[in-house]
Amino acid sequence: MEELKKEMLKELESVVDINSYNNFKTLYFGKKGKVSELSSKMGSMNHDEKKEYGMKLNSLRTEITDILEAKLAKINEEALNKKLESEKIDITLPSTKVNVGGANILEKLIEDVEELYLSMGYDVVEGPEVEKDLYNFELLNLPKGHPARDAQDTFYTEGDTLLLRSQTSPVQIRTMLANKEKTPIRIICPGKTYRRDDDDATHSHQFTQIEGLLVDKDISLADLKGAFDVLAKRLFGENRETRFRPSFYPFTEPSVELDISCFNCEGKGCSLCKGTGWITVGGAGIVNHNVLDNCGYDSTKWTGFAFGFGAERLAMLKYGITDIRTFYTNDLRIKENFDRKEA
Ligand SMILES: [Zn+2]
Repeated sequence: MEELKKEMLKELESVVDINSYNNFKTLYFGKKGKVSELSSKMGSMNHDEKKEYGMKLNSLRTEITDILEAKLAKINEEALNKKLESEKIDITLPSTKVNVGGANILEKLIEDVEELYLSMGYDVVEGPEVEKDLYNFELLNLPKGHPARDAQDTFYTEGDTLLLRSQTSPVQIRTMLANKEKTPIRIICPGKTYRRDDDDATHSHQFTQIEGLLVDKDISLADLKGAFDVLAKRLFGENRETRFRPSFYPFTEPSVELDISCFNCEGKGCSLCKGTGWITVGGAGIVNHNVLDNCGYDSTKWTGFAFGFGAERLAMLKYGITDIRTFYTNDLRIKENFDRKEA
């Protein structure tokens, strides 16, 4: 036992890290370790010998274990200090600049419009961008060969049956077909649309529409006026007045152009409103009875209104943007300008 004690005390000197600590424990205190070997000797001793030997062995075990645990505490402390040293942060150093992203100005406008109509009980509904000719044109009272189709020069993806939607109106069609008179309808459908175009500052082959549809009993142009009025005031200020001008769309009858009083000159006449005091921002009308009947809503019982805005046009007017391509070029300097404007 004395020899073992000497050996252990000597060996303890080489316990300097977690590996040598573990090795030491296994070598002496493991199941087949040297201390366990000694205790197995007690089997052949008488009662008194056993008692004395056991006490000595225990005190040896305690003495060595105490030293060993003190070593372990020191090893852990050193490891922690080393870690803290290597991960030390110098708070006096200048920090790295973090660039925070922001919403695309077009998305922001769409969200503003969505929020407004959601607060009035409308749902936001989306639909596919590759659409059937049937939903994009035919059920909207635009049969093949209808001259009004010429105004929407369309990208067809498959023969004359599949196309990139030229308007978000097919979402209205899909919603009516899915409901078939079960409920009134109150939706807005924002989304990307496509028409062949020569891109320049005011034209883009891709643009975004925000359309709205309300189908219920006894709906009139006065209801449409109300729905348009809140949008005009929300986007362009409480002083905005709105007016309808007669127009034509195959899917509405009667149809109107949606004008707002010019926010730039307060209606006096300026270059923005071309001296008229009014700016056209969208189109609308009472849903054509053919469209209702096509989509499972009996037009003798139901009426409705539909409206549509170009989201880019609204955003360009609201934020004074002069080139529609700004929305798609990912130039972050544009965003920074609006961060200031919105602050
Ligand atoms: Zn003006």
